[in-house]
Amino acid sequence: MSHTSELPMVPPTTFERIGQCNRFCGRCCSVARWRQHPQFAEQLQAFFTEMGENERGECAQLVWRNGQAVCAIYDERPDLCRVFPNHPLSIEILPECTFQFRASTEGGQS
Ligand code: SF4
Ligand code: SF4
Repeated sequence: MSHTSELPMVPPTTFERIGQCNRFCGRCCSVARWRQHPQFAEQLQAFFTEMGENERGECAQLVWRNGQAVCAIYDERPDLCRVFPNHPLSIEILPECTFQFRASTEGGQS
């Protein structure tokens, strides 16, 4: 599957990501939620237009199994989804997310 969308540009910051997805809440796949993001809403519009949107305002590739959000194309998911979350700003509208970021003096992403 080809994807034309580029990763959102974010301000340079040094940080370290900790934690993992242990909630499978699907909030990061919510188109409706991303529309509220002050930095990324416009940049992600093309991405979600490409992926499609279901009647719940989620990415059309999101399916629910036993109350857990699952990506129907997980093995072929776009790079944007593979690296998420890659910056503290990317989870600021996702308080449910179990990833966290902390300041890093060395070895973090920038
Ligand atoms: S492609 Fe999969 S991981 Fe990416 S937003 Fe859609 S459901 Fe979520
Ligand atoms: S918002 Fe965070 S915890 Fe929820 S499914 Fe996405 S990565 Fe996992």
